[in-house]
Amino acid sequence: MKLLVTGGAGYVGSVCTAHLLAAGHTVTVLDDLSTGHADAVPEGAELVKGDLAEASDELLADGFDGVLHFAARSLVGESVAHPERYWTGNVVATLRLLEAIRRHGTPRLVFSSTAATYGQPEQVPIREDAPTLPTNPYGASKLAIDHMISSYAAAHGLAAVSLRYFNVAGAHGRFGERHAVETHLIPLVLQVAAGKREAVQIYGDDWPTPDGTCVRDYIHVDDLAAAHLLALEKAAAGAHAVYNLGSGAGFSVREVIDACRTVTGHPIPAVAAPRREGDPAVLIASSDAAMAELGWRPERTEITTIVGDAWRFTQEHSAS
Ligand code: UDP
Repeated sequence: MKLLVTGGAGYVGSVCTAHLLAAGHTVTVLDDLSTGHADAVPEGAELVKGDLAEASDELLADGFDGVLHFAARSLVGESVAHPERYWTGNVVATLRLLEAIRRHGTPRLVFSSTAATYGQPEQVPIREDAPTLPTNPYGASKLAIDHMISSYAAAHGLAAVSLRYFNVAGAHGRFGERHAVETHLIPLVLQVAAGKREAVQIYGDDWPTPDGTCVRDYIHVDDLAAAHLLALEKAAAGAHAVYNLGSGAGFSVREVIDACRTVTGHPIPAVAAPRREGDPAVLIASSDAAMAELGWRPERTEITTIVGDAWRFTQEHSAS
């Protein structure tokens, strides 16, 4: 297929682009490089540096089989302090993309949604029919986009799939997590092992969990990418399917730090810090629907495998 990947210079977008190219697809990446990196775009993909809202119309006029939409702002704290950036950068920009898709009759869309659309869960594992009550503008903006996509699928025949990611981690070859402002647990812990940080902070050790620290469902970025390829194949005209994607197992912050100690051989000092606002105690995905309907199976579910790939990437990236 001839595909447009928005945000293909970012972490998940670049790994998905690599998988799409390996599967024989033709990929154009649209990225404004505000948080992405031009050198993260895999060889074989064409990079168009441009604004999502401005550039997608002209690009899609060329005739594409589908769009994979990753470009987004994704920092929870920033979304609370500057919600306008999320309503404009995520919702308004995606509306412009959807309008371009409609105008040019692009048949398929796979959207990068998030577990943040659910907010504090009443039950875990979280299924797709759980209430969607996001606790911050980031999650709200992604949920608003999911609603827009549903209406476009119903009214205009778009074949659409939203994939709600839980905690994405790991790396694929030379493609991994390179955020200017790093907030995610695994890269921060590995920065300590790499000597770039003194210690890791544990945001709360008095949560109602077995060891008192928050539990999350970590999914390897390669497993996540595989789900996007399946979603692209299975998307049905006029329907908007929504799938949660996680490994289905929870690991506490302490267990993640321990896995990082095992993988790196570094003692990784950890200090208790106050809880981070808006953090739910436990987030675990039910990926049953993705398994049943997409035929998806996560293959890299061991936390040491996920951390091991992230560590290899961190070391290679620190060296360059
Ligand atoms: N966390 C932590 N210290 C850090 C970064 C994160 O204790 O320096 C915790 C955070 O409170 C959450 C878990 O690690 O419980 C995963 O956080 P991350 O930001 O990686 O992902 P999120 O679950 O917020 O999407």
